[in-house]
Amino acid sequence: MEKKIAVFPGSFDPFTKGHEDIVLRGLNIFDEIIIAIGHNTKKSNRYFDIDVMSEKIRATFMEYPSIRVEVFAELTAEFAKRNKAQYLLRGLRNTTDFEYENSIAQVNRNINHDLESVFLITSPQFAYINSSIIREVHRYGGEVAPFLPYTL
Ligand code: ADP
Repeated sequence: MEKKIAVFPGSFDPFTKGHEDIVLRGLNIFDEIIIAIGHNTKKSNRYFDIDVMSEKIRATFMEYPSIRVEVFAELTAEFAKRNKAQYLLRGLRNTTDFEYENSIAQVNRNINHDLESVFLITSPQFAYINSSIIREVHRYGGEVAPFLPYTL
């Protein structure tokens, strides 16, 4: 049978325990997951360095040969096609996520008809974790370790 490959795209600025949870649960569904860090030129003013973050994510999943980490700078749907991924994996925390994800999924389907978006509802203990809030806490010297699956 054909391998089920999913791309889990995001900014991951930073990658959080909420993201980790989506990836690990995704492994129950997919044979391979590519964590794809979008290098969006408009948002290139990242807070956490993209190379540092990709190394941190790699280290987090070191024991999982079916998880890969990549940086990409193209349409997510094109990246998925190029990597022979049939699925896009995304997490849903709330209705705000839903509105946004709904539009993106429609666009992605238009670009690549064979690409199916799959959404996992956040585990309740991670539902409040938000990358932009973590950036703010970190900027002002607060403790962010409890939200991250690796040490900075
Ligand atoms: P983007 O800039 O594409 O929204 P993010 O890095 O913020 O990228 O998020 C990537 C994906 O992870 C999105 O589907 C988002 O809804 C999901 N996500 C973000 N935070 C959490 C969390 N705490 N729990 C589960 N999913 C999350």
